[in-house]
Amino acid sequence: MNIELLKRYQELDKKRSEFFKQVKTTELYVNIEKRKEEFTKKQNEFQNIEEEIKRLCATLPDCDEKKKAIQLKLDELQLSISKMSTLEDIENIETSIRKLENDIYDLNNYEKCLTKVISFEDKNKYNMNQLFALNNECKTLRDNFEIIFNKAKEKVLIPIENEMNSVSKQLNPEEVDMYKELKISVEKFPYVVEFDGEYCGGCGEDISSEVSKYFVSKDVTCRCPRCQRLLYIK
Ligand SMILES: [Zn+2]
Repeated sequence: MNIELLKRYQELDKKRSEFFKQVKTTELYVNIEKRKEEFTKKQNEFQNIEEEIKRLCATLPDCDEKKKAIQLKLDELQLSISKMSTLEDIENIETSIRKLENDIYDLNNYEKCLTKVISFEDKNKYNMNQLFALNNECKTLRDNFEIIFNKAKEKVLIPIENEMNSVSKQLNPEEVDMYKELKISVEKFPYVVEFDGEYCGGCGEDISSEVSKYFVSKDVTCRCPRCQRLLYIK
């Protein structure tokens, strides 16, 4: 196992992730993420209102039809009132009036519902404009970010990745695969650590009784039974 090369690879890998970490803390990147979040929030709001409009519209009958029907009933009622003579007539008229009152009450509710739909539609027109504005803002920020990112990439990231490529070519494929596996099984950096004969250089646990027996020469490596890091001795 080529520990020195593996350690160099690990160091470069760390620099590479630090580069991305730094990128993510730049003001521009943070701003883009914030705008994206705002956009998604607005988009959800827009969709929810659209759903609400659809739901309200499905419950809305044709108000004009309703109004005409009520008018017709009112006319009939007036006629009945002018003709009423018996007690039964009065009772019938009373029932009709009560029914008509209910219809008017319903119509009132429908009109309230219609007003709600209109106000929702206005709100979504406003939301749509905001979505356009946010989208444009995001695009401008992204364009600016790309220019800065590409410059940093050329100056910092590409040299790191080039060296990583060259180191990985010097390592054998099994070692490269093992490093990838270490990155998955070990909780956090570093993945390749020194064992001083007693303690693990990663988690700091005393593992001497468990692993010392394996280290019969400097070429030996083994995994820490606690943190799964790859251990080597100096
Ligand atoms: Zn450990």
